[in-house]
Amino acid sequence: MRKLVASVLEDLSTREVFLFRVSCAGCATEYTSRPVRFSRADSIADTPGKQTLLHAVYSQEQETARLYAIRNAAERMNYCPICKRIVCDRCFLICDDLDMCRQCAGALDQKGMPVAAEVVEAAM
Ligand SMILES: [Zn+2]
Ligand SMILES: [Zn+2]
Repeated sequence: MRKLVASVLEDLSTREVFLFRVSCAGCATEYTSRPVRFSRADSIADTPGKQTLLHAVYSQEQETARLYAIRNAAERMNYCPICKRIVCDRCFLICDDLDMCRQCAGALDQKGMPVAAEVVEAAM
């Protein structure tokens, strides 16, 4: 699941803040990760050496924030085995034979309960 989420994860990070977003393919709700501030956002890279260093720290922190966002997103997103889309808990139904998204359940005449009735909070 994490790999799938990673493939649809949008990187909205700026120079100061790491931010990621996953959109539900069913209802288009956007799940945005909690912004994480770059620890050296205020540092000034006035030499090439410092620049290299800052860049490395940035990459490292960005990757950490990315993995965290993926982990959180994977908990509330689901993979529909029929249409192969990533949908949120609200759009994913637990059915008797096979769990699938609301749209596919409708098309295949399957009944089920959504994983979550409401979006509790859109923030991850
Ligand atoms: Zn949804
Ligand atoms: Zn589906």
